[in-house]
Order: sequence, then C-alpha cells, then structure tokens
Amino acid sequence: MTIKKILTEPNPFLRQKSKKVDLVDDSIRSLMDDMLETMYAAPGIGLAAIQIGVPKRVIVIDLARENEKKNPLYFVNPEIITNSKTDASYEEGCLSVPGQFAEISRPDKCKVKFLNYQGEEKIFEADGLLATCIQHEIDHLEGILFIDYLSKLKKSMIMKKLSKHKKSLERVIV
Ligand code: ZN
Repeated sequence: MTIKKILTEPNPFLRQKSKKVDLVDDSIRSLMDDMLETMYAAPGIGLAAIQIGVPKRVIVIDLARENEKKNPLYFVNPEIITNSKTDASYEEGCLSVPGQFAEISRPDKCKVKFLNYQGEEKIFEADGLLATCIQHEIDHLEGILFIDYLSKLKKSMIMKKLSKHKKSLERVIV
C-alpha cells in the first residue's frame, strides 16, 4: 500500500467527472488499498479516487474513531437510488479543501447501490454521518465539492484563502 498525494482546490482535475469501473480486479483493489492508506494517514473519514488523481468511480470510507477497530467500506460505481425527504446538517470539511469547514444540509438517509471490494453488487441504506459522507464522496465523482453549496460570497472567500495558502506553500524551496 502506498500513501498518495491528495489534490487540493483550486485544481481543475478535481472538477472532472470520474469514469465507471468496468471490472473490480486486482488493479482496482490495489487502488482502494492505496486510497485507504492515504485516507488514514491524512487523517480523514472518506476519500474519492479523483482526490489522488485517479478519475474512477471509487470511494472509501471509514467512520471508526481512533480508539475503535477499523471498519473500511469500499464503494465502486456507487449510485444513489433513493434519498430521504428530510435533511441533516453537518459541519463538513474535505481533504481537498484543507482547513475549511461549513455547515451543509443533505438528505439524512440514502439508499445506495454499488460494487464492493470483491466486485459483488450490494444495496444498502445509510443514515446519519454515513449518509452525509457517501453523498459528499459521490459528489467528488461528479466534480462537485462541498463549497459549491455555499453562497457565492462565502465560496469566493474560501477560494481566496486556498489560493493564498497554495502560493505560500509553493514558495517554500529549500
Ligand atoms: Zn471531500
């Protein structure tokens, strides 16, 4: 397993649509292993393949807390079949939008169809934090970031901060 570099905004790559996976083979499983390793190291609770520069419809999630046993979840070609009509709000952050957080409202339950680590088709209903996390990650596959749900003003403030941060990072040449 290898820890990969996580792409951050602004980066046009993060805005592209990811492509469907035809077959869950060893190369896809190795991608999922790398994604999980990268997510744990960050640390984060969810990661989409596009965030490490691979435009494939693959996401990994693990909501286990630090002192809990790891519980990795793998979703290939995830698709939301139904959404609840009631919403839940969480303060969301994103490994590709470092240091920024905002309250985002999303359906509090969703039924999702996907292929698992073995390539088997599964359907399950997620609620609470998991539902939010799945929706956030599926957004990545469409090139959508959580900041896109904010007002223009709020979003441009965040983008300004991110650009500044990036510039100052690039200036450090040792
Ligand atoms: Zn994210």
